[in-house]
Amino acid sequence: MVRPAIIRKSLAEFPVAPNWTDYEAQRAGFSWDAARRTLAGLPGGGLNIAHEAVERHAAGSGRERAAFLFLGANGVRRISYGELSRLCARFDYVLAGLGVARGERVFTLLGRQPELYVAVLGALRHGAVACPLFSAFGPEPVVTRLALGEASVLVTTESLYRRKLEKLRDRLPRLRHVLVVADPGEDCHAPPGTIDLARLMETASEQQAIAVTQAEDMALLHFTSGTTGTPKGAVHVHEAAVAHMATGTYALDLHADDIYWCTADPGWVTGTSYGIIAPLLHGVTSIVDEGEFDAQRWYRILEEQRVTVWYTAPTAIRMLMKAGTGLAREHAFGALRFVASVGEPLNPEAVWWGMEALGLPIHDNWWQTETGGIMIANTPAFDIKPGSMGRPLPGIDACIVVKDQDGAHRVASQPDTEGELALRRGWPSMFRGYLNNEERYRKCFDGELYLTGDLARCDADGYFWFIARADDVIKSAGHLIGPFEVESALMEHPAVAEAGVIGKPHETLGESIKAFVSLRAGYAPSDALRMELLGHARTRLGAAVAPKEIDFLPSLPRTRSGKIMRRLLKARELGLAEGDTSTLEGQT
Ligand code: AMP
Repeated sequence: MVRPAIIRKSLAEFPVAPNWTDYEAQRAGFSWDAARRTLAGLPGGGLNIAHEAVERHAAGSGRERAAFLFLGANGVRRISYGELSRLCARFDYVLAGLGVARGERVFTLLGRQPELYVAVLGALRHGAVACPLFSAFGPEPVVTRLALGEASVLVTTESLYRRKLEKLRDRLPRLRHVLVVADPGEDCHAPPGTIDLARLMETASEQQAIAVTQAEDMALLHFTSGTTGTPKGAVHVHEAAVAHMATGTYALDLHADDIYWCTADPGWVTGTSYGIIAPLLHGVTSIVDEGEFDAQRWYRILEEQRVTVWYTAPTAIRMLMKAGTGLAREHAFGALRFVASVGEPLNPEAVWWGMEALGLPIHDNWWQTETGGIMIANTPAFDIKPGSMGRPLPGIDACIVVKDQDGAHRVASQPDTEGELALRRGWPSMFRGYLNNEERYRKCFDGELYLTGDLARCDADGYFWFIARADDVIKSAGHLIGPFEVESALMEHPAVAEAGVIGKPHETLGESIKAFVSLRAGYAPSDALRMELLGHARTRLGAAVAPKEIDFLPSLPRTRSGKIMRRLLKARELGLAEGDTSTLEGQT
C-alpha cells in the first residue's frame, strides 16, 4: 500500500457533518469569552462543573439519556443523567453530613466503577476538590499523594484500603474520613476506622443544594511527576470546563447523540477531563470498561456498543497492532466515525494501521496534566500528517522557543527549528498552581509563555512534531513517571546504596522503566537480590510504576554537585554518545 506523507480530508468521507471544517476561519473567529457562553452557569451566578456536566442535562430533555454504560464482569449498568444527578446530590449530602467544607480535598482510589464517577462529580457539586488516584498505584505513591494533597476524605474499596492504606494510615493525620464501597461483586465490610458509603447513601437526601462555586474556585487536583522531588499537585479550577467543552467540539468532534469511549483511567488526567467531564458537558453517552486491556474484548466493545467516537492511547494501539489486523477484521465498526489518541508519540505506522484495521485514521493530539485539556490536535478540519501531533486548537497559541545566551526564551521565527514547546497563557483549563509550591509553578513560565518541558518543532504549515521530553521524566504505557519516586522506593531497601532510574525505548509501552543500583557494603549482586528488589519495588509502587529491569553497578555516575546523571546512564544503556560529561564527578 502506498503511504503518502499526508492523509487528505474530504467532506464526503464523513458520515456525519463534522463540527468544523475551516481551520483558519474558526481560529480567527474564536474567543474564549464566546466559549464561556456555551456553558449555562449556575442559575443565580457562579460556575460549577457538576452543574454543567450533570444537572443541566438532568433538568431538561437529557434526563433519560444514558450518561454512562459501565461494562463490568456481571453485565452492563446503565446510569442516566437523571440518576447520576440524584446520586451526586446524595454524595454531596453525605459530605455535608460529615462536615466536609468547601475546598477540602476528596480523593478517590477506585477502579472504574460507578462510585468513582459519583464521588468525583458529587465532590465538585459540594464545592470540594476532587482528586482521583490511579487504583493500580502501590501504597507509597498513594500515601505520598494523599499527604501532599492534604486529603480530608478518601473513597476507596475495602480491599484497596486493606492492601494499600490500613498499615500506613497514621502517616495521614489530616485524613478524617475513609468511605469504603464494596469491591465489585462482593459485600461491603467496612474495616475499623472506615465508614460504609452505601449505608450513608441509602438515607441521604436528593434535595441537597449545589454549592455556588465561582469560575476560579479550585475544582480538581491532578498529580504529575517531575524529574526531582515529590509529585506535583496541579490545581485546576471550575472554569476548566470551558476548555473541556470547546475541545470536545474541536478535537473529539463530539455530537449530542454520540456513544463515546475514552479508555483512560480517571486516575490520570485524560480519564477525568475526557473520561468524565467533556463527554458529560456534551450530553453524550460514555462507555466505561471496568476491565483491563484485552484486544478481543476491546474490539467487541467497539462493535457491540456501537461506539462512534473513540479516544485512546498509543500503547493500547500498539497492543492492538500486535494482536494483528486479522483480529480487527473479524469485527465490524460500522458506527465508528472518529478516533483520537493522546499521551505519547503516535508513530505514522499506527495512523496507517487505523486506516487498515478500523477504516479510519487515528488523530493524534497533545496536552499535559498542566494544560488541563487538549491543546494541539489533528482534527476533522484539516489533513493529517502522520507522525505529527497536529495544529493548535482555536484559542491556543503555541510556539517553539529557544534560549538566548542570556537565558531568555526567544520565539523561533524559522519553521522546523527544534526547541521547547511553549503556549501563550490564558486558556481556561491552564493549571493555576502546583499545590503549596509557588516557586515550581513560577519556573514554568517566562512572562506570558508557559514552558511545557517538551522538545518539538513546528513545520511551515503550522503542524507540531514531538521530539522528546526536555527532562528525565519517563512515559511508560502513557503514564508519566518521575524517576525520583522510583529511586526513593528502591533506596528504602536495606541493600541499596544509590539508585538511578531511566526510561528505555520499548515496543509497546513506549518506554520501560530500568533501574541501576549500587549496593551497600555487605551485599553482593546476585539474581536472587535482583528478584527481591524487583519484588520490593512492585509491592511499594505498583506494577505500572515499578522498574521492569534492574542492573547492578559498583557506583552511579554523579555530577560534582551530587546529582545522579540519569542522562549518562541512559546513553550508556542505549550505546549513544555520552554528550557533555564535564560536570561528571571524578573528571578533571
Ligand atoms: P501527562 O501530564 O501525564 O498527561 O503527560 C504529558 C506529557 O506526555 C507531555 O508533556 C508529553 O511529553 C507527552 N505527550 C502527551 N501527548 C503526546 C503526544 N501526542 N505526542 C508526544 N508526546 C505526548
